[in-house]
Amino acid sequence: MSTRAEARASEIFMFDPHAETMAREALTALQTARLKHTLELAYANSSHYRRKFDAAGVGPGDLKSLSDIVRFPFTLKSDLRDNYPFGGMFVVPREQLLRIHASSGTTGKPTVVGYTKGDLDTWADLMARCFASGGILPGDIIHNAYGYGLFTGGLGAHYGGERLGCTVVPASGGGTERQINLINDFRASVLCATPSYALNIAEVAQKMGCDLRHSSLKVGMFGAEPWSEAMRHDLQDRLGLKAIDLYGLSEIMGPGVACECAANQSGLHGWEDHFLFETIDPETLQPLPVGATGELVITTLTKEAQPMVRYRTRDITRLSNEPCNCGRTHVRIMRVTGRSDDMLIIRGINVYPSQIEAVLVGFPGLAPHYQIVLSREGVLDEMRVEVELTPGVMLTDAERTRKAEDVVRHIKSLIGVTCQVAVKAEGEVPRSQGKAVRVRDERKKAR
Ligand SMILES: [Zn+2]
Repeated sequence: MSTRAEARASEIFMFDPHAETMAREALTALQTARLKHTLELAYANSSHYRRKFDAAGVGPGDLKSLSDIVRFPFTLKSDLRDNYPFGGMFVVPREQLLRIHASSGTTGKPTVVGYTKGDLDTWADLMARCFASGGILPGDIIHNAYGYGLFTGGLGAHYGGERLGCTVVPASGGGTERQINLINDFRASVLCATPSYALNIAEVAQKMGCDLRHSSLKVGMFGAEPWSEAMRHDLQDRLGLKAIDLYGLSEIMGPGVACECAANQSGLHGWEDHFLFETIDPETLQPLPVGATGELVITTLTKEAQPMVRYRTRDITRLSNEPCNCGRTHVRIMRVTGRSDDMLIIRGINVYPSQIEAVLVGFPGLAPHYQIVLSREGVLDEMRVEVELTPGVMLTDAERTRKAEDVVRHIKSLIGVTCQVAVKAEGEVPRSQGKAVRVRDERKKAR
């Protein structure tokens, strides 16, 4: 590439071209060898895995090819909680951990993850791959609004950006007006944030009289919560950037497990030299063929401190082996449509918050801020969707009611569920400072 502009325009800059374009046969051989090693490590050094493998009647020697992975037991988030804090899931002595992250569970103890020097190195490499895949080049200024701290988002993106050779601004979450000033003053080309916080930034900027559509921003690396295609278009319009979907979870590594490519923006390349991806039916737990929609299950292939064998992510998606025009050969994880944990069952119909989002975003006269409130009427669960009017729009009560009825009809025809809709004034739906709270459950209180 002779110039920076050409490299950016081509959208096929790779951080590790050798690994990212590896032929399927070589990739399978590498995965098989690494998986064997991971299973041996887990069985030999983790009391947790030894117990689980023994109970299932399998051992590392039973793995002859990748498909034998289905004989091994799943790992659940509760396994991490049960081993709190440094229990039997680590395969190295605690002294070899250079860093700890933890996620607060909604119930009980947090889940703790730990990293060796090698793990941190791999994480930075894979996150650098993701940034390059999203169209970011060495020398770009990354405004990192992922939260720093026990959450893996902030530090994960931070070290990945440095590894690629970018200038990283460790903004973390909150203080939105100041963040917008920094983006403008430093002329950041990349914004890292959760999609809901990016939306908050766009809205606050508008109130400040600052049009981010004409700012220095070129790429948004958005992840850590499921979001819809409609939200992508909305964020691209409001922020004047290319919105890239980034995927990861702390139990597996943190952000950087998979990422869309700027060339295609369709499906996230999952780095198969470091992870084995499967999908299963979340009810029967049986493996699904490539292309079928189900729960994503991930096995780590190079983790040193805390290998994860068949970790159930609860994320609902499908895998695609279709060749990608960016040249990367790694499997694509299609957009996560929701989490099986978040799935709501309203009068017998399965509903994901992201489906509601897709109806609301882009609806004329409505702002893309929403919350789903669950309540119980007698024996039936009721769903109320609270959504806001576009800033500056004033409606009479009768007009609001008509607007709400309009939304009810759209949700009924597109998702098949009957719900109530409350159209609220600007600012009445809580804003995200990190991960958005999409569902408010008032059923327990009522009982
Ligand atoms: Zn691609």
